[in-house]
Amino acid sequence: MKARVLSGIQPTGSPHIGNYLGALKNWAKIQYDYDSIYCIVDLHAITLYQDPKELRSKIFELAGTLLAIGIDPKHSALVVQSSVPEHAELAWMLTCVTPVGWLERMTQYKAKSEAQESIGDGLLQYPVLMAADILLYQAGIVPVGDDQSQHLELARDIAQRFNSLYGETFVMPATRLPSVGARIMGLDDPEKKMSKSTAGTGHAIGLLDAPDAIRKKIMRSTTDSQPGVNIENPGAGVRNLLTIFQAFMDWPDDQMQQHFAGMRYGDLKKQVAEAVLAKVEPIQARYREITADPGYVAKVLEEGAARVTPLARETVQKAKKAMGLFTAD
Ligand code: ATP
Ligand code: MG
Repeated sequence: MKARVLSGIQPTGSPHIGNYLGALKNWAKIQYDYDSIYCIVDLHAITLYQDPKELRSKIFELAGTLLAIGIDPKHSALVVQSSVPEHAELAWMLTCVTPVGWLERMTQYKAKSEAQESIGDGLLQYPVLMAADILLYQAGIVPVGDDQSQHLELARDIAQRFNSLYGETFVMPATRLPSVGARIMGLDDPEKKMSKSTAGTGHAIGLLDAPDAIRKKIMRSTTDSQPGVNIENPGAGVRNLLTIFQAFMDWPDDQMQQHFAGMRYGDLKKQVAEAVLAKVEPIQARYREITADPGYVAKVLEEGAARVTPLARETVQKAKKAMGLFTAD
């Protein structure tokens, strides 16, 4: 039996090159080596307020984008989290074995709650729901960006605690990070991770952004006052541009060094823009083809949910029995 891969992305906005290089590129690449399940995690998205109409349309846009980057629905299940209620059901059971202190320590919780006047409980519970997503399918491998490493570690702690309290129930999941591009930074502020939910037109490059807009954003990205690329010790903005280029082109380090050492920033930016567009334009063309048939994406999502539901039910049954909750059999 093949090991299972699971990963998710929130429909909180349009997916960007950080999502692509940190996670989605890997999803497509490793899907055939495993039994793969990829989730559009709408229950995670509502941990911060989402406009309902917008959320619905983002779910479809995201599903279309995932298909366009090469997620093959004949092989991998593409699922919307809320269409499998067992995610929320298992999350409650896991909530009851998770100390609040573990959750309060999470970097993402601290960063995302900082901007809120009143902090919703969902924001604190976020990593428990994420643990449920993973443990529900007994996933062994979780390909994510670096920002999710801490949540993955927590998912393992939760699984371990459950297993030691109630007996072996869950497979222990491993984190899979890309070697280059695990943390792409904002183009406007290279100290901050590129995020869907961060405002600002110059912040993120959307996978569906118009080519001209992509060029402009890269040409205007923050660098520093050095005359050209200091390859030994580039500033944060230049390092980020080099990482974006390398992750898109899959060049080895020595080729990067030879090619970019001393290059003027204007030239660097032009080359980064062309490297991004060479990958992103074909994705956009496939996106247009896929979404031309209005019923297709909905059908894929329905099939995905139907495929994974028996797996989800099996794990919930197992967890309920382990805890002594009521089951009919
Ligand atoms: P949000 O701002 O709503 O949290 P996001 O851009 O952080 O959106 P998520 O849906 O939270 O995106 O994450 C989806 C996947 O993309 C995760 O695996 C995450 O680790 C990865 N990811 C997110 N941002 C980056 C980034 N800047 N660089 C690399 N990977 C990233
Ligand atoms: Mg995020």
